[in-house]
Amino acid sequence: MSKPFWKQKKLKDFSSSEWESICYHCGRCCLIKLQDDSTNEIYYTRVICRYFDINTHLCREYKKRCSLVPECLKLTPQNIDSLFWMPKLCAYRILTETGDLPKNHPLKGSFGPPPLPQALISDNLVAAEDLEDYIIEDEEL
Ligand code: SF4
Repeated sequence: MSKPFWKQKKLKDFSSSEWESICYHCGRCCLIKLQDDSTNEIYYTRVICRYFDINTHLCREYKKRCSLVPECLKLTPQNIDSLFWMPKLCAYRILTETGDLPKNHPLKGSFGPPPLPQALISDNLVAAEDLEDYIIEDEEL
């Protein structure tokens, strides 16, 4: 039996549909993050980008996302290595770090990572100075 594409190819050789199929659509990377200026540590909050559709788990403005939200980063095979802050459960991060997808990945016939456990709130409903109140635990990510 031949190996699945993600074990046969380097990330840079994935087709665009193969690359997209790695995403769990879990929404973890769409959570608003805070960075400690002195330690550079990243903290995730349960505040989520206003364009994330909580029902479909898809971005409602996928094609325009980088112009609508300048800090929204397009994940690519070239930059995934440097994105140390990506959630630990992100399928791209796991694939990059281990060379395989986790057992719970849809491409392995499963349903993806555990859903985000806490109630989410859209970023247009939270003032920037209140974001610290919404920080969530690392193990949820
Ligand atoms: S955290 Fe990773 S797997 Fe989840 S939606 Fe973002 S890019 Fe996709």
